[in-house]
Amino acid sequence: MPVTVARIKRKAAELGFNLCGLTPAKPSPTLAAYLRWLRRGMHGEMRYLARTDRVRRRQDLREILPGAKTLIVVGLDYYARYADEATLSDPARGRIAAYAWGLDYHNVLALRLEAFAEWLTEASGVKPAQKVYVDTGALLERSHAQQAGLGFIGKNTMLIHPRRGGTFFIGEIITALEFDDYDAPQRETMCGSCTRCLVACPTDAFPEPFVLDSRRCISYHTIENRGWIDRELRADFGNWIFGCDICQDVCPFQRFAEETEEVAFLPFDLDRVAPQLTDILMSNEPSFRAMFRRSPVERAGRELIVRNACIAAGNWRGKVAIPHLIQLLYDDSALVRGHAAWALWRTMELDSSKLLTDLYQREDDERVRAEVEALLG
Ligand code: SF4
Repeated sequence: MPVTVARIKRKAAELGFNLCGLTPAKPSPTLAAYLRWLRRGMHGEMRYLARTDRVRRRQDLREILPGAKTLIVVGLDYYARYADEATLSDPARGRIAAYAWGLDYHNVLALRLEAFAEWLTEASGVKPAQKVYVDTGALLERSHAQQAGLGFIGKNTMLIHPRRGGTFFIGEIITALEFDDYDAPQRETMCGSCTRCLVACPTDAFPEPFVLDSRRCISYHTIENRGWIDRELRADFGNWIFGCDICQDVCPFQRFAEETEEVAFLPFDLDRVAPQLTDILMSNEPSFRAMFRRSPVERAGRELIVRNACIAAGNWRGKVAIPHLIQLLYDDSALVRGHAAWALWRTMELDSSKLLTDLYQREDDERVRAEVEALLG
């Protein structure tokens, strides 16, 4: 039996994927806009995105796979109704973006796509060259997914399915197999006059519709930025400690989101969704790993998440966090010491002067000293 598009889609459903579309392996129509975005420096510290080899691969998929003819794009829902909004936005808790509540999606998706690719090899009987991709940055995934009919691009730059919202992961198989009945692209956008996501963003990360300035994005800073967070932005981070869902949560198309049937993406408990900030602040390497084992948060590492929790604690201003923040002034990480100093200043104001002066006097890291100088004026 020849391997047809209909058979491929049946197999995708059998493997548990909620969406599947096929599109010719052509350059993304948003490539020019992407290159403009890079030129404007909006990728922040993600310099790897601007590397010539990466850009070349995005321009021509045959750089990734010689003879590439087709992209099979799949979607897998991750939406879960686990906790109510009051719990999630409790300032004493650190909030984690919904995509990271379960097990690391890279592993879940990659394993399933590998099985899909193996099936394709057997079913086609010709051993086609093919490659599996999950969020590796080598492809303009959302744009290819739009071309494969999986959704439109929202003003928040996310891929949105008109009947299931935007809470699904995407992955791809690039293959040398060619078909003659590809999916029709979705409409470029269906936002109309809506601007909810642009208005809701607390850090004004959208300088214009369809353009995200990573340098102002909470998600970028709490996950990708491994350095110091601009003081000017911190107060707008609220209680987010890993990612951010705001521009997605406010989208009217989210009302169609269905709860995932994928057990791997359901959280074990509230600690994987909105842990107490004090638990994070007092964590050490082993307890941090135990808390977030096999979740995307574990990959970020303790230093980054404690830094983020210090910012959330500074926004909370809860007195119970004070002893933990004082303890963190002695942390091995200068990044943590500096952000803990900021959180103490926000929580205790002038009462923190003595603690911060002591820190300044014993500190030999220039960034921490500069932070304290800025706080004490
Ligand atoms: Fe588009 Fe409105 Fe959704 Fe933003 S919130 S992506 S403008 S529909």
